[in-house]
Amino acid sequence: MQPTLFEGAKRLVYDDAVELTVQSMQAYGPAHDHWGIAWSGGKDSSATLTLILHLIEVGRIAPPRSLTVFYADTRQELPPLAISASRIMDQLQRRGVRCEVVTAPLDKRFLVYILGRGVPPPNNNTLRWCTRQIKIDPMTAALEARLDELGGGILMITGVRQGESAIRDQRIVMSCGKDGAECGQGWYQQVLPAAKGIRGRIATLAPLLHWRVCNVWDWLKIYAPSPDYGGWATREIADAYGGDEAEEINARTGCAGCPLASKDLALDTIIASADWSYLSPLKGLKPLYRELRLPENRLRKAGFEYLKDGSRAANPQRMGPLTFDARLMGLDRILSIQAQVNVAARAARRPEIDILNAEEEARIRFLIAAGTWPQGWAGDEPTADTPMDTLFGDGSVQPLLV
Ligand code: SF4
Repeated sequence: MQPTLFEGAKRLVYDDAVELTVQSMQAYGPAHDHWGIAWSGGKDSSATLTLILHLIEVGRIAPPRSLTVFYADTRQELPPLAISASRIMDQLQRRGVRCEVVTAPLDKRFLVYILGRGVPPPNNNTLRWCTRQIKIDPMTAALEARLDELGGGILMITGVRQGESAIRDQRIVMSCGKDGAECGQGWYQQVLPAAKGIRGRIATLAPLLHWRVCNVWDWLKIYAPSPDYGGWATREIADAYGGDEAEEINARTGCAGCPLASKDLALDTIIASADWSYLSPLKGLKPLYRELRLPENRLRKAGFEYLKDGSRAANPQRMGPLTFDARLMGLDRILSIQAQVNVAARAARRPEIDILNAEEEARIRFLIAAGTWPQGWAGDEPTADTPMDTLFGDGSVQPLLV
């Protein structure tokens, strides 16, 4: 007989972990009529989503009056995870679970913002605009709309997970840069409750906080796919992280070619498998994002900048947006990466990718043709590789040596 998670003589390795999850849901769930689940398609949030639904289905936790799943789609997701997410969405639909796909508005999407508006790709030294703009802000807007519909508060369930240190340390470390983390989950936990428009109307809960990564793999690979636990399409998620070696690889997931991750660990793992090797042109994204940040591809303020109150900005001659030539070069390269992948996909009868669609491409070309620059830039500034006097923050000037 198939062992169950909750009964029988055979105690499962993670029985206690599930039990703690049940207890936290029983403690906090009933205080909220409406629940939401912040899901990004990665391992932790997918485990959270499918386990919570299973626990409701088998009567271990009482269902809320309403449950809404918010799938955060950045349009840059790693393809195997995006494909699994779409299969799980079909399963949610068949069960009658409401699932909203949350995407940034066209002009705020990652590639449109970079190539259309000209804002350089983020890096670790700059303000990290991407997570807020393509994940947090759209999630806030979706939640605000849902809250207005429901007329009450929402308990937002996230996939933040820290393993046993969560119990030991009694505190939550929210770093999205951590190995094995899913970009965004920590932010949903930490930033959403204070976001304008929904402040005071949402509470957050991370019911898998204490789970070890092996618990997550066991759930995704063995239990969740079995009919007794819901028959979820989660096995492919574990495969995307490296199958049996997933635990050692411990890849952080988010956008393909994420400029903030030190290595393309997740993508490297994916293309190492024969089924996904046709995605290897995506390896060109990260170097492209790095190249776009080079001085020859950007404008620079020539002199001191003054703020509205008349004071001098601290950072003279700062580098700024991407030139039109650089944007068109970037657009061309991304389209060619996508085309290479899709030619190989069709030949091998594998799923195609869609990181830049026709609407987004047209919008980028429109914004470039309309001469669009980010706020504070006119487009007549010199390119950042132009030799010029050196200005210092204290107001001193070192003339250009000729
Ligand atoms: S995965 Fe990387 S590029 Fe995508 S939102 Fe997160 S930090 Fe930004």
